[in-house]
Amino acid sequence: MSKKFLIVGGVAGGASTAARIRRLDEQAEVIMFEKGPNVSFSNCSLPFHLSGIVENSSKLILMTPQTFQSKYNIEARVSHEVVSINRDAKTVTVKNLINDTSYEESYDTLVLSPGASPIVPNLEGVDSPHVFTVRNVVDIERLNNYVKSDDVEDIAVIGGGFIGVEVAENLRLAGFNVSLVKHAQQLITCIICLNRTRE
Ligand SMILES: Cc1cc2nc3c(=O)[nH]c(=O)nc-3n(C[C@H](O)[C@H](O)[C@H](O)COP(=O)(O)OP(=O)(O)OC[C@H]3O[C@@H](n4cnc5c(N)ncnc54)[C@H](O)[C@@H]3O)c2cc1C
Repeated sequence: MSKKFLIVGGVAGGASTAARIRRLDEQAEVIMFEKGPNVSFSNCSLPFHLSGIVENSSKLILMTPQTFQSKYNIEARVSHEVVSINRDAKTVTVKNLINDTSYEESYDTLVLSPGASPIVPNLEGVDSPHVFTVRNVVDIERLNNYVKSDDVEDIAVIGGGFIGVEVAENLRLAGFNVSLVKHAQQLITCIICLNRTRE
């Protein structure tokens, strides 16, 4: 009997796991859940949409649910959030974010690849409409639309890791006055190395 794999998260980890399962097992049923509207996009290229180097945000999307289905026979359900795992029954509860309904899906094997979220400092005003985080295509479109349509001149980028530096660089290329703010003394600090130097 064919095995049924459920994968939570449809970007780098989830999508490559799904493709790998298909290569190893032609008969397996593979369903990938992604709570956002896109699967398999190019996170690395997101900041370059701000400068226009990647002009059209649709170019950031590498695969669609349709291509997953036709190329790999993998069912990718976007705007579907896995909200609980019922281990004894070997099912997950899934919320369809489009029509706000929930249902159960059974599995033989469950793979969790939910990624991470940007750290948002607990500061007053952080919920304001002109404060943004950068993690996915929706985020970068929202930020890009805001800075290009409003009367924006000065932008502060909080966080000087490689994502912050790339975002700052591309906003600068787009002609904005950009300040990059980082609490440590160096930009793009490797946390592991930093901790080792403190040991
Ligand atoms: C702007 C930017 C630039 C980057 N540049 C580089 C680079 O140049 N080189 C490099 O190596 N790495 C880069 N990275 C990092 C790289 O993108 C991540 O390491 C990689 O995306 C992690 O993949 P992931 O699948 O683990 O997590 P994610 O890409 O975060 O994907 C996890 C997905 O799971 C979904 N999810 C979470 N919970 C649920 C749930 N309960 N139900 C359904 N779906 C759920 C989320 O919506 C998310 O889309 C960059 C990241 C960003 C944001």
